[in-house]
Amino acid sequence: MNVLVVGGAGYIGSHMVKMLLGERQHVITLDNLSGGYRDAVLGGEFVEGSLADRGLLHSLFALRRIDAVMHFASFIQVGESMREPALYYQNNLANSLNLLDAMRSHGCNRLIFSSTAAIFGEPDYVPIDEAHPQLPINPYGVSKWMVERILRDYDSAYGLKSVCLRYFNACGADPEGLLGERHVPETHLIPLVLQAASGRVDAIRIFGDDYPTPDGTCVRDYVHVEDLCSAHWLALNALQKSSRSAAFNLGNGQGYSVRQVIDTAHEVTGRPIEVIVEPRRSGDPARLVADARHAVDRLNWKPQHADLQTIIEHAWQWEQKMVRIAASPA
Ligand code: UDP
Repeated sequence: MNVLVVGGAGYIGSHMVKMLLGERQHVITLDNLSGGYRDAVLGGEFVEGSLADRGLLHSLFALRRIDAVMHFASFIQVGESMREPALYYQNNLANSLNLLDAMRSHGCNRLIFSSTAAIFGEPDYVPIDEAHPQLPINPYGVSKWMVERILRDYDSAYGLKSVCLRYFNACGADPEGLLGERHVPETHLIPLVLQAASGRVDAIRIFGDDYPTPDGTCVRDYVHVEDLCSAHWLALNALQKSSRSAAFNLGNGQGYSVRQVIDTAHEVTGRPIEVIVEPRRSGDPARLVADARHAVDRLNWKPQHADLQTIIEHAWQWEQKMVRIAASPA
């Protein structure tokens, strides 16, 4: 298959490109390098450009037969989306529409879409299954929810088939050590804890320890980036076979608190990690845990790195590489 990976130079996208190359697919990566890195794209064709560029999109599809698209390119910071919603509606929503319209005009009708647990908003119950009400509480979640909603209409009206994958907390790194998380600024818990362990930041700040959870810190469902990618590959194959649109929640069904993450990082790294407790961050639900039985049953998804220790080991291997790169002469 010829697979267009939009956002293939970013964190999850780059792991996906690596997996698709391993599956002997022809990969075309489209990325504007706003948050991604050219050296994270380990093979295939690379096109530097943006989904805002409709002309580029049309020529991309006109010059090649693209069998399917995976769309990873979006802004992902909840806090930023509250301050700058226009960025999120422009990039995550309007640019996605450009992509869908280019696909439609060129008869490409298979899409795997990166969605998020944030479409559910404050949970009514956990674990969260696909039937859970969808009431996103920030522009990031709304932008993803809107694309999911639009995809339903594009399926009925234009036959564009899609699978929406709602990630819980994506984390970990390529077990071979070639790829990992490189967000600037980094806002995610696991890379920040490991930066505190390596000395790249002074401490990890816990955003609130007065939640109604066993140790007072928030509980999240951490899912390894490679397991997310295997779900995409299975979803693409299912879509090829069944031609039926679907949506799946992706997590391990196991929640860990912020303190448990810090303790595990301490065990894995053997380093002291300075902890500072700060007030709650706005918009953080106390517990977010996925019910991913649908993906397990329907896609035959079998996460390979479900335990937190392994996830943190892989992320630590990557963090140590980042430290070595930062220390080496330019
Ligand atoms: N968190 C924290 N300190 C940090 C970053 C995150 O205490 O420096 C907490 C955050 O409040 C949440 C959990 O860690 O409860 C996971 O946050 P992250 O930003 O990694 O992912 P999110 O759950 O927001 O998608």
